[in-house]
Amino acid sequence: MENVVVVGNGIAGTTAATALRDHSYRGRITIIGAETHEPYSRPALSKSALAEAGGFSSHLLPVADHDADVLSGMAAIGLDLANRRLKLSDGSTRDFDGLIIASGIRPRKLRPDLDLELTFRKVEDAQELRTLLRSKPRVAVVGAGVLGMELASACAAAGSRVTVICRSKPMRSTLGDFLADVIVGAARRQGVEIVNPHAVDVRESASELGAREVVLADGSSVLADLVISAIGDVPNIEWLKNSGLLNNGELRVDSRCRLASNVVAAGDVAAIPGEHGHARVPLWTSAIEQAKVAAQALLIGDAAPELDYQQYFWTDQFGLALKACGRLPVKGEPEYIEGAPGAEPTLMRWQNADGSGTAVAINYRMPIPKLRALSRQSPRAAQGRGDLKQQ
Ligand SMILES: Cc1cc2nc3c(=O)[nH]c(=O)nc-3n(C[C@H](O)[C@H](O)[C@H](O)COP(=O)(O)OP(=O)(O)OC[C@H]3O[C@@H](n4cnc5c(N)ncnc54)[C@H](O)[C@@H]3O)c2cc1C
Repeated sequence: MENVVVVGNGIAGTTAATALRDHSYRGRITIIGAETHEPYSRPALSKSALAEAGGFSSHLLPVADHDADVLSGMAAIGLDLANRRLKLSDGSTRDFDGLIIASGIRPRKLRPDLDLELTFRKVEDAQELRTLLRSKPRVAVVGAGVLGMELASACAAAGSRVTVICRSKPMRSTLGDFLADVIVGAARRQGVEIVNPHAVDVRESASELGAREVVLADGSSVLADLVISAIGDVPNIEWLKNSGLLNNGELRVDSRCRLASNVVAAGDVAAIPGEHGHARVPLWTSAIEQAKVAAQALLIGDAAPELDYQQYFWTDQFGLALKACGRLPVKGEPEYIEGAPGAEPTLMRWQNADGSGTAVAINYRMPIPKLRALSRQSPRAAQGRGDLKQQ
């Protein structure tokens, strides 16, 4: 293989390119990226980047050393797999021996046809929100997953009155009831209002010039100056429509991230095999792990290791820095290794029904490998270990 093309210049695309070099690939690499920036940390955008007082830099990543030709501001718009040829948005084509698909996802909107909602994925979205928050608008956040709640937290911290509109308890589907209650408690203490049922529409307010109304499923509405939708995402796969690679509208890769012998996919765009079939796992560390496996699989096929994703989740919101190793959501009450209910810092562990463990640290500084080790220990062994003390 001498000519690899990567579509997407996010963390998955850039990690895959670097991994090719790490595995002694010396041929040509071309990265085609629709955004005009170097890859950056999306997780930082909804956390530190919104809170930065002066500058705007916490999302920046070290420059990658993959020695690839990067075509930024350029999109792949079609794939002819039989002839190993990509069609690009400037009308040109690009041939390849190997293809890495890492085109990510984009946010869903309540009303894609109108310009009434902000969505949040790109560096430009963060810049816009930082600017808008200066006037302390009333904010309605639609959706209460991790992104919606982190944005609600940032808006509240910036002095805005915030209403979160959601179908069910915030963060419950990600974390489970116990941890969701911890987060909801912290959000309410910071003045955030949480309302149900879910939103069905957004429109300009008839009663207040310039304001917006989010219409809920029961016909009631929430008035706001700024509406932020965090209601899920759609994969960027339209350019693959006629490629033959889509399976039921998904890019379903095998355990080595392969779609064909010379095509792999990685990151948020890819549906990876798991316990309950194929699913996208739109998480930072998952994108990195997939990209490393995908690059190796492109080079050495079956000799590449299979994906072995170590579940890791983190979030910063409402003054809570939560890190979790192991299966989520968790069920029931935890065993407290350090701390006590409602008194952070806390270090907790759940014994899951399948025999695995989940370790969660809230405002408790602990290196991830140690947290992971704790998730794998029996609670009794963990409690007896002096080296788990806060450091
Ligand atoms: C605000 C925010 C906060 C987050 N916080 C966390 C967190 O706390 N923890 C966590 O684990 N995960 C978090 N995530 C998720 C994490 O950032 C993603 O899983 C990760 O960035 C996915 O990387 P990717 O390279 O697969 O996709 P992306 O970063 O989306 O990169 C794909 C790139 O491909 C480009 N592209 C799309 N179509 C084309 C095309 N046709 N041709 C060329 N280029 C194309 C896109 O413009 C984009 O630049 C967060 C995400 C966001 C948005």
